[in-house]
Amino acid sequence: MATVKKRKVDAECRVFQEKWTNDFFFVEVKGKPVCLVCGGALAVMKKANVERHYSSKHAKLDELKGQMRLDKMNALRRSLGAQQAAFTRPQTDRENITRASFVILRTQLIGTRAAQLNRLQRVCRAQRPLCTKSDEVRLAEEASKKYGSPAPTIFSKVIDKSIPADIIYEDEKCLAFRDVSPQAPVHFLVIPRVPIPRISEAKDDDAELLGHLLVVAKNVAKQESLDEGYRVVINDGKHGAQSVYHLHVHVLGGRQMSWPPG
Ligand code: AMP
Repeated sequence: MATVKKRKVDAECRVFQEKWTNDFFFVEVKGKPVCLVCGGALAVMKKANVERHYSSKHAKLDELKGQMRLDKMNALRRSLGAQQAAFTRPQTDRENITRASFVILRTQLIGTRAAQLNRLQRVCRAQRPLCTKSDEVRLAEEASKKYGSPAPTIFSKVIDKSIPADIIYEDEKCLAFRDVSPQAPVHFLVIPRVPIPRISEAKDDDAELLGHLLVVAKNVAKQESLDEGYRVVINDGKHGAQSVYHLHVHVLGGRQMSWPPG
């Protein structure tokens, strides 16, 4: 049964196509196609569904061409990003509450009745989607399996401008652009033009380039008015939850960060 289902998914090519962003104002968020105009998420990753949504609800946007279309798209991406960032903190709070409840209850039950402790552990396992960032880990696992393949990453397409991105800085060595799924009011990525897959693969003679990425991160953070501080992050490999194998420096700011990270 599972094989039949998989064959159907493969045949229908149910993976997000980058050109849907330009053609239909859709982006992929946590494995679902999400409309940039109304924020609606579609249950099925199929071009027909995405196209139907666009032509029935937002066909007026066909009037926007070229740069105007790109500007509109970037403005909508930013506003979707701001909405998502607003949801991030409550979710983190919920996760912390769930974890704290588990720890408190476990402390009370340890040394009393093993059966009750087992029941608590079963309940908490059922709540796991609340407690973990499973989507990000899944993405990182998929990307780490692909690692080593010569296929260009999504960031190569940002660099050669074959897909749209909100680029806020570029020079001959690197570029900075806003993260499509921001985790803070300001969240941008700085990437080198040369495709170093991950920080652990960098060579000693990349030192100057790596330093340059940090200097650019600092300068763009200033340009973005992150005067009260910000966080700079490089995820590496599976355990680092890296999902795109083209080295990138995250810069997040505009809200109070907490520690430790998840
Ligand atoms: P990491 O998990 O450290 O590999 O981060 C990859 C980041 O790239 C994530 O935060 C994604 O939201 C972001 N991202 C993926 N595709 C794009 C894109 N086309 N434009 C901007 N950001 C992207």
